[in-house]
Amino acid sequence: MSMEDYDFLFKIVLIGNAGVGKTCLVRRFTQGLFPPGQGATIGVDFMIKTVEINGEKVKVSERLSNLSMATQEGRELQIWDTAGQERFRSITQSYYRSANALILTYDITCEESFRCLPEWLREIEQYASNKVITVLVGNKIDLAERREVSQQRAEEFSEAQDMYYLETSAKESDNVEKLFLDLACRLISEA
Ligand code: GDP
Ligand code: MG
Repeated sequence: MSMEDYDFLFKIVLIGNAGVGKTCLVRRFTQGLFPPGQGATIGVDFMIKTVEINGEKVKVSERLSNLSMATQEGRELQIWDTAGQERFRSITQSYYRSANALILTYDITCEESFRCLPEWLREIEQYASNKVITVLVGNKIDLAERREVSQQRAEEFSEAQDMYYLETSAKESDNVEKLFLDLACRLISEA
């Protein structure tokens, strides 16, 4: 299908250091599973679930490395996981350019993943649309005893950058639905 087949096509791209939990967040949302199953899903376009956004039923399906939510009115949301592209400047510019929203993820138990955020933000500034919605996500809050980045520090950082901030656990399913559904809702209502 080409873009012309949809009234609207929204693209959400997950970025952030390797190991922070991007793939787990996507799989938790689509399949309710942790850890995700082995290997890529080859069955193209099979239906996983239906969610409701603004009272509108949205079909969620998963493809190879992206996930698409097609509404009955022909609107589609695609969620793109980035794998093996976590090193700076290895995500292609086109990935950024076509993104309507970015989920910038770090691991609350990994100071290093937080310290890399300014570098990710520089990439966003350089390559993404100036209208892109960026959400900062601190993942792995189930590992509270190993926390290295306080919530306050992350909130101050996200406020300074004018980003929405949310803490999640892909493992315990904390705030994962909220993350994707709130973002989907925002994209649809701002379109
Ligand atoms: P990615 O490289 O960003 O895609 O990270 P993955 O999704 O592959 O996860 C990296 C590692 O972190 C795996 O061992 C996961 O099991 C683990 N992980 C991911 N999310 C969570 C979480 O919310 N809590 C805990 N405890 N571990 C997590
Ligand atoms: Mg991954």
